[in-house]
Amino acid sequence: MPKEKTSLLDNMIGVGDMVLLEPLSEDSFLENLKKRFDHNEIYTYIGSVVISMNPYRSLPIFTPEKVEEYRNRNFYELSPHIYALADEAYRSLRDQDKDQCILITGESGAGKTEASKLVMSYVAAVCGKGQEVNKVKEQLLQSNPVLEAFGNAKTVRNDNSSRFGKYMDIEFDFKGDPLGGVISNYLLEKSRVVKQPRGERNFHVFYQLLSGASDDTLKKLKLHRDFSKYNYLSLDSAIVNGLDDAANFRTVRNAMQIVGFMEDEVQSVLELVAAVLKLGNIEFKPESRCNGTDESRIKDKNGEPTDEESVLERAFSYRTVEAKMEKVSTTLNVAQAYYARDALAKNLYSRLFSWLVTRINESIKVSDVTKTRHKVMGVLDIYGFEIFEDNSFEQFIINYCNEKLQQIFIELTLHEEQEEYIREGIEWTNIDMNLHLLSNNQNGILAMLDEECLRPGTVTDETFLDKLNTICAEHQHFESRLSKNSKFLNDHSLPHNCFRIQHYAGKVLYRVEGFVDKNNDLLYRDLSQAMYKANHSLIKQLFPEGNPSKVNLKRPPTAGFQFKASVGTLMKNLQTKNPNYIRCIKPNDKKASHIFTESLVRHQVRYLGLMENVRVRRAGYAFRQAYEPCLERYKMLCKRTWPHWRGPEREGVEVLMTDLQVPADEFSYGRSKIFIRNPRTLFFLEERRRQ
Ligand code: ATP
Ligand code: MG
Repeated sequence: MPKEKTSLLDNMIGVGDMVLLEPLSEDSFLENLKKRFDHNEIYTYIGSVVISMNPYRSLPIFTPEKVEEYRNRNFYELSPHIYALADEAYRSLRDQDKDQCILITGESGAGKTEASKLVMSYVAAVCGKGQEVNKVKEQLLQSNPVLEAFGNAKTVRNDNSSRFGKYMDIEFDFKGDPLGGVISNYLLEKSRVVKQPRGERNFHVFYQLLSGASDDTLKKLKLHRDFSKYNYLSLDSAIVNGLDDAANFRTVRNAMQIVGFMEDEVQSVLELVAAVLKLGNIEFKPESRCNGTDESRIKDKNGEPTDEESVLERAFSYRTVEAKMEKVSTTLNVAQAYYARDALAKNLYSRLFSWLVTRINESIKVSDVTKTRHKVMGVLDIYGFEIFEDNSFEQFIINYCNEKLQQIFIELTLHEEQEEYIREGIEWTNIDMNLHLLSNNQNGILAMLDEECLRPGTVTDETFLDKLNTICAEHQHFESRLSKNSKFLNDHSLPHNCFRIQHYAGKVLYRVEGFVDKNNDLLYRDLSQAMYKANHSLIKQLFPEGNPSKVNLKRPPTAGFQFKASVGTLMKNLQTKNPNYIRCIKPNDKKASHIFTESLVRHQVRYLGLMENVRVRRAGYAFRQAYEPCLERYKMLCKRTWPHWRGPEREGVEVLMTDLQVPADEFSYGRSKIFIRNPRTLFFLEERRRQ
């Protein structure tokens, strides 16, 4: 059956592409989004960018029939859909050999992770189908439930919130069949392991294990089924509506098996999860020493401790500092012992998480002996810009990443426009778009934080803040030295322990408390050594620095440094690929369907830089269309082209434009397309068609 010829411009609710919105203002933008959302149209374009509104209910638009509908169709032929973007990206990868990346941003609960899964499942549905290929697909798809169990949690914003950033490269052979992939993870929110904000949970896996494991498994792990037995599990929201932890446990175990985990590996992983829970239940009591100080002791032990317990107990009681080649042991008081316990739990869990990613990568990596070049599609699902009441190191780092992404977005979009103009032989005049060019400001602040953390002497959050303020006050040019346009705002009215940054998306006040500690991210050597001594091969493997024969006096890189480096690598990787953007928006903060809270959406439209986005797309020519479909659509408007034009299509379009008296400065003729400067011209043509 021949495919029916439709267009983005047909039967459209509101405007399907914001580039065509007239007049363009933030209000008209929001009105259009709302109108479409109210009619279940959750996708809207800005050129080739897809805006996705979270419907908070299942819509019948993700069926195999829909996949078929969008398969091999041109981007603008059907109504906006994430499948259109996935199809375009996949075909361009397969047929034109262009590596792709899909960049998904938006705030928590906006639908990024769901969008990334829709893209992956679309690509899985349309690519090759052999037995080998199916196995690869299954492994790639099943890596999701595993990572979600360990890296996602219920938060007040999202019942399945990803607490880590994820980038996945999927590799394809020359035919476009998937061969495997590589996953990178960014900054797991490990503080959640030991403490959760009110109304939130720890990572899903803890609840899944306790609800879903057999009695026998729990007995072996020496665990109780009852969540309330564990200090690290918050109780106020342990049960989440619509979340079946027990069933999910089976899904995760099954997924681990498909991905290729051996049974003893799964066992080890569960043992570590259990160890974290049990660590949280260790309590300390003070024991007075003859010199008048208090030293911590583990409370309520039954019977003699095992060897391992004594090692751990010692690690919780003393801290050894190496100074001038000498080892000095100091005792820990009770508060310090709790701090050490929590630090260990957080480290154990986050290292387990990184190990899982590495292990999955081992399974899905491409073992191609021919070493031919692979085609690559990267999918980035990463936390959006965050502005809370209380912003700390984590928000600083996340916003740093978002600044970089926005910067790369503008660079790549402009570059793409320019390339197309060159390809089409259209003159490119540099357009001054008066955009906020973005900062390296935070780069400078991170570097300063590192300098401070590595400085000998007493370093505290306050000394860091002092340094920041002093340098900013001293150097009038600090801003230009560190940034292009976003600023460190030097303002004496700020609360004393805060600093403020003007990001592209808005001003953010950061509280400096915890910056030094979180950046240092150090684990007492005694704890690493205690872990290394554990009679458990996975734990040993996770703490290589605890090996006493490998005394490495070099300190590990700071958290900020590592993050900066991994974001740098990511940006380099993205720059080599053709970008595709999905901008996710949350319509309300009730997790409810059908509700569109205007103020909330407006806020996101700003933070996602969407108006800027439309302006970039409209900077030169708002609309472009190949000659053939253009002639097809409008030939009825002109006697000379209707009903048939015999001759080159481009000439047909030229005749059309002349006869319709479209002013010459409104469009340009490219090699294969006509470029229309202003949406008004397009509407004029559409209007004529309807008459
Ligand atoms: P976070 O940053 O917290 O990880 P996120 O942007 O990844 O948030 P998701 O987990 O993808 O958000 O989506 C949150 C919830 O919204 C989902 O669990 C699901 O209930 C609903 N949702 C998202 N997208 C869709 C969709 N296309 N159809 C139906 N429901 C959806
Ligand atoms: Mg997510």
